[in-house]
Amino acid sequence: MKKYAPPVLMLAIFETIAITLWLTKGNLFYLINFSYIGCSIALGMFLFIRKHRHARRVVQLLVGLYMLIYLGLICGENMQIEGFWYYLFTGTFEAATIHYAVAKIFGPLLFGRGWCGYACWTAMVLDFLPYKTPSKPRKNLGWIRYITFAASLVFVAGLFLAHVGNLERIMFWAFIVGNVLYYAVGIILAFAFQDNRAFCKYICPITVFLKPMSYFALARVKCDKDKCISCGKCKRVCPMNVDVIDNSRKRENGTECILCMECVQNCPKHAL
Ligand code: SF4
Ligand code: SF4
Ligand code: SF4
Repeated sequence: MKKYAPPVLMLAIFETIAITLWLTKGNLFYLINFSYIGCSIALGMFLFIRKHRHARRVVQLLVGLYMLIYLGLICGENMQIEGFWYYLFTGTFEAATIHYAVAKIFGPLLFGRGWCGYACWTAMVLDFLPYKTPSKPRKNLGWIRYITFAASLVFVAGLFLAHVGNLERIMFWAFIVGNVLYYAVGIILAFAFQDNRAFCKYICPITVFLKPMSYFALARVKCDKDKCISCGKCKRVCPMNVDVIDNSRKRENGTECILCMECVQNCPKHAL
């Protein structure tokens, strides 16, 4: 039974967040929302322990579709980075600000870029494309993410400075247009670079938050050097080009690991 401790722990963490926010904000939505996400992630971890091939995809679809369709399209919450700036500027600690605090700013101190591996609705679609593992080394294009990050900030700040009215409505449409753009650019880049995760590596503005915080992540894949035979399989199957046999936090692309566990599942010596 000990092997099932991680999903139980994960569920307990999310239930703690759910109950705390429910009681402090007086809103039942937080209890339901974080309980649902916690149950989905715990289910994925349980399936992974049971060696289910599609464990990660199950979580991606459960969480990603919930956030994109229910929260985004039905409830009208802009959970993109523009929505985060919007709620931040209005001084509201709700919806996108809570989502960013938990999944993308403070959460990564605990679970690294687990968001990118298990919950992101952009990657949920990109991971269905044919180039699961990149055939070529990473390109030196990561600087683009700072431009998209700055553009999102300038866009929302500009709306506030220009005193544009009906911002809630604009944010809803920004969510739709932003997602269409993300998917279009992500799919074009995946085919151009033959790499499903090219968008994540070079364009996604959220990585400006995710990368520095995940540098300190508690949850990391580590290599047992006594077992490793340096066959290189882990690096070949990694969608993010991470050099996972280097245990230092400064390893090549050290803040890129999305905890997908492809390397762990493929290591012939069970060294990871
Ligand atoms: S890098 Fe961005 S697009 Fe890729 S999975 Fe993470 S949050 Fe989603
Ligand atoms: S796949 Fe396993 S044995 Fe091969 S290099 Fe990676 S950690 Fe070492
Ligand atoms: S294959 Fe391993 S190193 Fe690469 S992203 Fe997945 S878990 Fe991280």
